Amino acid sequence: MADLTKKFDVLVIGGGNAALCAAISARRAGASVLVLEGAPKFYRGGNTRHTRNMRCAHDAATEILTGPYTEEEFWDDLLRLTGGQTDEELAKFMIAESKDILNWIVEQGVRWQPSLGGTLSLGRTNSFFLGGGRAMLNALYLTAEKLGVEIRYDAEVTALEIEDGMFLSAGLKQPIDGTTEIRASALVAAAGGFEANIEWLKEYWGEAADNFLIRGTPYNRGSILKLLLDKGVQDIGDPTQCHAVAIDARAPKFDGGIITRHDSVVFGIVINKHAQRFYDEGEDIWPKRYAIWGRLVAAQPDQIAYIIFDSTVVTSFMPTLFPPIAGATLAELAGKLELDPAALEKTVTDFNAAVQPGTFDHTILDDCRTEGITPPKTHWARRIETPPYLAYPVRPGITFTYLGTRVNKQSRMVMKDGKPSANMFAAGEIMAGNVLGKGYAAGIGMTIGSVFGRVAGQEAAKNARN
Ligand SMILES: Cc1cc2nc3c(=O)[nH]c(=O)nc-3n(C[C@H](O)[C@H](O)[C@H](O)COP(=O)(O)OP(=O)(O)OC[C@H]3O[C@@H](n4cnc5c(N)ncnc54)[C@H](O)[C@@H]3O)c2cc1C
Repeated sequence: MADLTKKFDVLVIGGGNAALCAAISARRAGASVLVLEGAPKFYRGGNTRHTRNMRCAHDAATEILTGPYTEEEFWDDLLRLTGGQTDEELAKFMIAESKDILNWIVEQGVRWQPSLGGTLSLGRTNSFFLGGGRAMLNALYLTAEKLGVEIRYDAEVTALEIEDGMFLSAGLKQPIDGTTEIRASALVAAAGGFEANIEWLKEYWGEAADNFLIRGTPYNRGSILKLLLDKGVQDIGDPTQCHAVAIDARAPKFDGGIITRHDSVVFGIVINKHAQRFYDEGEDIWPKRYAIWGRLVAAQPDQIAYIIFDSTVVTSFMPTLFPPIAGATLAELAGKLELDPAALEKTVTDFNAAVQPGTFDHTILDDCRTEGITPPKTHWARRIETPPYLAYPVRPGITFTYLGTRVNKQSRMVMKDGKPSANMFAAGEIMAGNVLGKGYAAGIGMTIGSVFGRVAGQEAAKNARN
């Protein structure tokens, strides 16, 4: 084990995908590298543990991808989903680099698998990790260790010494190998967003944030982000923007992961605690729209909503960890959900009366729609009339936040005065806001971490040598 009192070439703070990509590429470029992961070893890897896939551009079908996904198409998707709130130069750079990442990540020991049928129909655009994000991380850690990257767990960084945009040292919450001060020639900050910091979320969301569930690690509290912004790094991104989906209200406060997400919205209706519908459940194809439902539920009273459907559709979507709540009648279901039975019956009756005849096909924008109710359900509208009646209670499930550190194409942090930092780089969630001003496309979180992680590692190593 290396002596932690010596000065390292590159210090990486964080232990997820972005951190490991940075550590490996810095080490391969000849740097001595220390990774400080705030979590204990068992929980290493932040939100990356929960991932399944990554979105990369490619010009032709491969063994694992069913068809081409060109740079132009990726860019068009990104432009649309962010409503133009993206740094075009950085985004196009990321997309171009993503082509090579597909192979580079394999060279680091990660294995892909052909995409399986499932919720989000991503077989053409996204590559799936064999064994999921945890297996992917284990492979990266193994490679990093073999290359001689030093890794320490339970190593939460709580202080950063920075002078005029130059990193000098990091302070540990508790001593490791007898030291609390870590020095390095260059810093890569890859410590995620602030989604697990409820107090910070409350600054933008108010008391509603108490009802948010955090889908990933409790260790992403944004402490590094805050320290960097306090020390003059330029911020990017709207602090209220985040990736948030509807997850089961019975999920744990943290780390519920993918199995708590509900993909049944298009098969039923969604109501609030007053048993009122509040948004078009059939607005667009589910993979393009699933990520709006966290914010929609966040805007409802007490941040709770219920997906209501009937027994005819139970096998149409991926089941989640939690079984639906059932009632032989709508009134019985309302009783179990503690809703007003008369209000639920009226909402469902009005909805059923508005459903127009059509041919149901959830893979296209079909012609099954309502007429004469507000909000409308513009596709996939079918009557809810076959008992047992079923419901999933849902709450906003926060995946990650978008406020971050501004970077340039070298992944180098930019200071408030517009000058690039002398030796500080950022990768992953902590700088995702450069690319994602708002919105989300499945698999792009890992693209951001891998592409900018690799660049940050290379540039930090180069920086340390000069
Ligand atoms: C349930 C779920 C499913 C997801 N599925 C996908 C998917 O399939 N595809 C996709 O692209 N994205 C997915 N995402 C998003 C994805 O997880 C993130 O975009 C990605 O993992 C970010 O990587 P990262 O390395 O930046 O952050 P993380 O993997 O979250 O790592 C951050 C690290 O920083 C450490 N840390 C934090 N503070 C400190 C500190 N002060 N000192 C030291 N260490 C610290 C944490 O312990 C953690 O190890 C999913 C997220 C969730 C929650």
